[in-house]
Formats: sequence, structure tokens, C-alpha cells
Amino acid sequence: MKNRILIIGAGISGLACALMFEKIGYTPVIFEKSDCLRHDGGGLTLWNNATDALQAMGLLEEIYESSKIICESSLTTSSGKILAKIPLDELATKYGTYTVGILRSNLHHILASKLNQTEIKTGYNLVNLKETNEEVIAHFENGHEEAGELLVGADGIYSAVRNKLFPNHDLRFSGYEAWRGISSYTNQYTKSGFTFESWGNGKRFGFIPMSDSLVYWFATRNTLENLKESQISKEQLIYSFREFVQPVPAVIEVTKGKDITRKLIYDFKPLQNWSKGRVVLIGDAAHATTPNLGQGACMALEDSVVLAQCLEQGKNPFDAVKAFEENRKDRAKLIVNKSWMYGKIAQMENSLLCKVRNLIVKNCPSIYKNNNFNKIVGHKI
Ligand SMILES: Cc1cc2nc3c(=O)[nH]c(=O)nc-3n(C[C@H](O)[C@H](O)[C@H](O)COP(=O)(O)OP(=O)(O)OC[C@H]3O[C@@H](n4cnc5c(N)ncnc54)[C@H](O)[C@@H]3O)c2cc1C
Repeated sequence: MKNRILIIGAGISGLACALMFEKIGYTPVIFEKSDCLRHDGGGLTLWNNATDALQAMGLLEEIYESSKIICESSLTTSSGKILAKIPLDELATKYGTYTVGILRSNLHHILASKLNQTEIKTGYNLVNLKETNEEVIAHFENGHEEAGELLVGADGIYSAVRNKLFPNHDLRFSGYEAWRGISSYTNQYTKSGFTFESWGNGKRFGFIPMSDSLVYWFATRNTLENLKESQISKEQLIYSFREFVQPVPAVIEVTKGKDITRKLIYDFKPLQNWSKGRVVLIGDAAHATTPNLGQGACMALEDSVVLAQCLEQGKNPFDAVKAFEENRKDRAKLIVNKSWMYGKIAQMENSLLCKVRNLIVKNCPSIYKNNNFNKIVGHKI
């Protein structure tokens, strides 16, 4: 079983860590519960820390070619008043790589297309794990068993691997839902690579170009967890965000209904440990975060590079996964906690409190000069 690593999940974490394991001479096998590799159509912001990790993976040029470089990001009120601006082109000069807006499917495709030795087995839903002195054995719903030297749980927020390792670590509901859409749309923001996030009362809208004529947007609003089944039409969504100025209504309007999805937002409180024996968690399985800082996939990419570095340097898999945990846990905790807090502030609903919040944000020293912000996007692996 020497050098055979089992990876559970073919999302961003699973594909990225397989690629990094190949680079250091391991033979990864990915097991994905779906019947085919997902081509999720949504979009992502990959901040400087993620493009730094992608550079370490040798993928930066290809990522730049398949995405839109973001030059500036602004935070506004729903009526369009500027609260803060982040000159992302200046940050790129400082950190060495750009922030980009990218289709998820482009990122998935680039990662998957670089795998040479990795076998990807679809239709493999992990249901159990067993460990012996020599190996770890994964059991799948289809009746198959597979053994390896190490097992990486890259199976997302609802991780079956995490539930086996650390049962009863419950998800935490944020109090809001997110609608996401992608659409063909061209304006001065898409052409110049400008993103914005607008804050209303208990609602937010975000706009991220992914090319000169393609945009990814999200709209969040406060909701109750037990309203899980509530769906609204595009027209109701436009109505719900009617106080937001253009291009918000226009961009929702031009999005096809099939390209709009809704999700209740969860994370979980930081775990004490991410591994046991020969099993380790990465990505959302280890540290799912609310999407407020746009850092979940960015951290998954960082994790993949660091886990491979630790395996390359460690004497055995046990030392390697412990070194990985030590390297990564504080960083993930910082981001999960900051993102949770950001969500609480951004989703405030009381109109008086929102006015005070906006005044404070507007008069705060620039966000990008803030030490915490620099720690998040300026992080080097
Ligand atoms: C609204 C929203 C906006 C976001 N925006 C951003 C952003 O702008 N930037 C950013 O960096 N991040 C963002 N994120 C976070 C990002 O989407 C996640 O952090 C990232 O997709 C996590 O990747 P992953 O591979 O760890 O997990 P996943 O993408 O969830 O992949 C897990 C994989 O494991 C498979 N799987 C699950 N269970 C099993 C099993 N039992 N057996 C086998 N396979 C299994 C699943 O089918 C899936 O393919 C956002 C998230 C949300 C919800």
C-alpha cells in the first residue's frame, strides 16, 4: 500500500491535493459519490492568497487566462453610496499575484486536466472507515473496499469522513440564505474588472466579473432555518432587492432562471483536531466557513499545497498530518471567526443600526490597510 493515498471527494480540495501528491511521487485515487465530476456553474473570487497557492501548483498563467483579473473592489450602500474601496491592483503589486473572478467549472477543469496518475472513481459514496497498523480501509455504499497508506477527507461541509472521526460536531446556521447566479452581462465594471458588494438592511448583493462579458452575482437575505423549502421566483427576487440601484436589478433580470441557485448558509465552529491516525481532513470538511470573505476555496488550495509539503518533509504519514494541522489550524480559525463576524455585521436589519454601521465603515481607516485583511489575503504558504 506504500504511497497509495485515498482522497474522498472530487471538489476543489480533492482535485488540488491529488495534483500536489502526484508532484511529490504519491499515487492518489479519488473517490467521488456523484456519478460524474461536478461542473458546478457558479463563480468564485480567488484572492491573492489563492493565486499564490495556484502559482505554487504551477497553474497561475492558465488561471489568469480563464478568469478576469479584478482591479478594484468597492463596498457601497444599496443606494450606491461608496463606503470603502480596495485597490486590488495595488495589493497585487504588494503580494505578487492578482485576485481573480473565475467560473467554478473553469477551476475544476484546470485542476482535473493536470492529473496524470490519479484515478478518479465516481459513484463511490464513503460510508465507513477502518484503520489497522498498516493501512486505512474505506468502505463504500456500492460494496467496494479500498485500502491506502493515508486517507484524505476532502468531502465538503457535510463530510462523512469528519462525522466518522468527530461525530456530533454540528453545523451552525448563519441566519441568512444566498442566491447565486451567473449571466452574460457587459458594463464598465465587467470590462474594467471592478467588483462591488452593496449592503442594505438584512440584505446584500455582490457582483464579480469573470470575463469582459460574464458576471457572477450573489444576493443574501436574512431568513429562518425552518423555511428551508421556501423558493422565490426571479421576479420576487428582483422585488425583494428593489431598493438596490443599478446594475443590481438589471443583472438579476438578464440571468436565466436555471442559472440561479439558492442555499442556506452554514459553517461549523473550528475543530480542535483535523486528523486521527491515518485520516486527515482538508477544505470545507476541515473548516467550512461562511462565504463572507470569499475564502473557502482559497483555503482549500492553500491546504493542498501545505499538506503535500508536510508529506514530503515528514518521516511518516502520522507526523505529516500533525505538522499539517499545526500549520493550518490557527489560520482557518481566524478566517472562520472573522467571516462569521463579518456576516453578523453585514446582515444587520435594524435601519438605525445599519445607518450607524455604514457611518462607522465609511469613517474607518481603509479596509485594505487593516492588519487583519492583510493577514487574510496577503498570507503566504
Ligand atoms: C454562496 C457561496 C459563495 C462562495 N464563494 C466563494 C468565493 O468567492 N471564494 C472562495 O474561495 N470560496 C467561496 N465559497 C466556498 C467554496 O465554495 C468552498 O469552500 C469550496 O467549494 C470547498 O471545496 P471542497 O472541495 O472542500 O468541498 P466541496 O466543493 O463541497 O466538494 C466535496 C466533494 O466531495 C463529494 N462527497 C461528499 N460526500 C462524499 C462521500 N461520502 N463520498 C465520496 N464523495 C463525497 C461531493 O460530491 C463533492 O464533490 C463559497 C461558498 C458559498 C456557499
